[in-house]
Amino acid sequence: MMSDKRDKKRLAVIGHPVTHSRSPAMQNAALAELGLAGEWTYEAIDVAPDEFERRVRAMVGEGFAGANVTVPHKGAALILADKLSETVREIGAANTLSFANGEIYADNTDAKGLLRALPASPQGERVLVLGAGGAARAVVWALLGEGAHVEVWNRTELRSRNLCEKLGGTPVTAPDGPSYRLIVNATSVGLRGEDPFGELPLSADGFSGGQTVVDLVYGAGTSQLLAAAEIAGAAVVDGIEVLVRQGALSLEIWTGREPPLDVMRAAAREP
Ligand code: NAP
Repeated sequence: MMSDKRDKKRLAVIGHPVTHSRSPAMQNAALAELGLAGEWTYEAIDVAPDEFERRVRAMVGEGFAGANVTVPHKGAALILADKLSETVREIGAANTLSFANGEIYADNTDAKGLLRALPASPQGERVLVLGAGGAARAVVWALLGEGAHVEVWNRTELRSRNLCEKLGGTPVTAPDGPSYRLIVNATSVGLRGEDPFGELPLSADGFSGGQTVVDLVYGAGTSQLLAAAEIAGAAVVDGIEVLVRQGALSLEIWTGREPPLDVMRAAAREP
């Protein structure tokens, strides 16, 4: 007998807006590669903030096994969950929900996803994180957990000070870009075509071969930030690689299967 939608295990990414998300293409390609496409589906659901809680609670009874949560719902996801992982509790944001026995369980794969995307361990390294929003919190928490020396710059200084008070790390107002082994852009600068060297305390000729530069923001093609870093010979990691790594960890939580990273990368990068 053919299975209908009620027999399927549904997954989704919930955001606002969400149409630009690469997650459905990436996760459906992974499900197909694992031979799960007949049983599992992954869709994008656009939900405004005031509808978020009602929509997620309804999903529990609609055959959903879980969901990724993206901007602007990562804080709300933590508040409505019945159970939180230790990571979520410490970071204060959730990006992965699982629904079982009528309960909502919240996890955060952004932190571990960032670490998996790095070419080398940041242990003992001086690191600069730009930003103090949800993504920056996960990044700072992950890097501190690995034993990195983390400094945090944010446009609104009070937010970087608050972040460091809660998680650790040192707030900085005038970072010296060339002195860091690793620089992570966890702001949304670049998302709408902003000039990173106008908005962030970095200069286009301030990178070097010994550095790694990560830009969480992704769009079509290489970001301006990573293009400049690459010219200087720095190792670069783009937002798609981080997306793939966090998505792979979410898929593993839901299905218990080992995610096919290369298939996910190819699907996430398809124009
Ligand atoms: P958020 O909570 O809204 O935080 C936005 C951050 O960007 C704040 O620190 C904000 O500074 C800063 N910012 C915004 N405009 C700026 C400007 N013109 N100049 C300087 N700083 C500016 O967002 P989020 O959830 O942390 O996400 C940040 C970015 O990471 C988003 O673009 C998101 O798509 C991306 N992201 C990617 C992945 C991935 O897997 N690749 C995962 C998570 C997030 P203020 O505090 O001063 O406003």
